[in-house]
Parts: sequence; C-alpha cells; structure tokens
Amino acid sequence: MATSNVDVTDQRIARIASSIRVIPDFPKPGIMFQDITTLLLDPKAFKDTIDLFVERYRDKNINVIAGIEARGFIFGPPIALAIGAKFVPMRKPKKLPGEVISEEYSLEYGTDKIEMHVGAVQAGERAVIVDDLIATGGTLNAAIRLLVPKPIAERVGVTVVECACVIELAELKGREKLGDKSLFVLVSET
Ligand code: AMP
Repeated sequence: MATSNVDVTDQRIARIASSIRVIPDFPKPGIMFQDITTLLLDPKAFKDTIDLFVERYRDKNINVIAGIEARGFIFGPPIALAIGAKFVPMRKPKKLPGEVISEEYSLEYGTDKIEMHVGAVQAGERAVIVDDLIATGGTLNAAIRLLVPKPIAERVGVTVVECACVIELAELKGREKLGDKSLFVLVSET
C-alpha cells in the first residue's frame, strides 16, 4: 500500500473540500453521501480540482486516463485533454457496444462488474485510474485488474501508475485493497 496525498497546505484544497455537500442517509440509511455536484457548481473549485490532477500527471508520460462510471466521467476527460492522454471509459455491465473484458467486485450485498472495450489500451501504456471517491476500494481494485498484466492474452500489460480520487473515506481503508498501487486524493474524510 502506498500513500500519496495532496499538499494540504495548498489553499485550493480548502475550497474544494468545502464545496462538497454531504447528504446523510442517501441512497439508504447510514450512508453519508459525498455529493460532488455542488463542487461542479463552483467553477473555481472545479478548475482547481482538475488543475491539481493535471499538475501531478502532466510530466509523467501518462497515455491513458481510465475513468470509472459515472463520476469518473466528469473528472477524467478534462485531465486527459490537458495532459494529452486518451480517455478510456470503464462502464457498468452491458453499456459498451463492442467486445469487452469484465472484472467483478463485491458490494455490501452481492456483486457488480465493470467493463472496458477490448483494444482500448495497448501493451506498454501508462494509465491513471480516475474516480470521484474511494470507499472500500472494491471498484478501483476491479479497475486495476482490468488493466494490469494477466496470463490471459486480452488483458494487455498496461502499467497502472496511480489511482486518483477527489475524496477518500479513510476509515474504510480502501487503500489497502489497491495492493502496491498508490492512491492520490485531494480530500480525505475521516
Ligand atoms: P468502493 O468500491 O466501496 O470504493 O466505492 C466507490 C464507488 O462508490 C465510487 O464510484 C463512488 O462514486 C461510490 N461511493 C461509495 N460510497 C460513496 C459515498 N459515501 N458518497 C458518494 N459516493 C460513494
């Protein structure tokens, strides 16, 4: 497990953190839902969020920004455009029209899957996986499994350089599910 958080003395972080609204008991009792739609309503906080990721990744030879449905589709594409990388959507099952590979992950009750188009990434490429939030880490763990080398021909050898999220729910210790991959977050909620 590698730790990699933003410089908390950066003035931009406080504005980003305070722009995120917390809605208790959504979508079900006991969940404190971190609502990033209020961050999107503050153009400075939204721009600062993108800038902080771009500053971190622009000189790291990143070819792929892989965004996780749905809120990874909000933050991933502007980062990809700014650093000259391609954007690869990792989607919920049965959404992608072409041939896909899938990885399953556990939910509180049952399992879910994420899928990626075959051929979206190439051997030797360097990827950053982007989502809005890490909770238990199950989703990012499945995303890493979609990209890393496996003894199955279609899972080509992409290097996952890092996972990047706006928010971490630190108490859930999702970082520990990422193996040797580092996690970069802007706001860590305890
Ligand atoms: P996990 O796989 O447990 O790390 O869950 C991460 C995924 O679930 C992300 O795609 C988040 O958007 C979503 N998620 C989980 N918990 C929350 C929460 N408290 N507030 C907002 N989104 C959440």
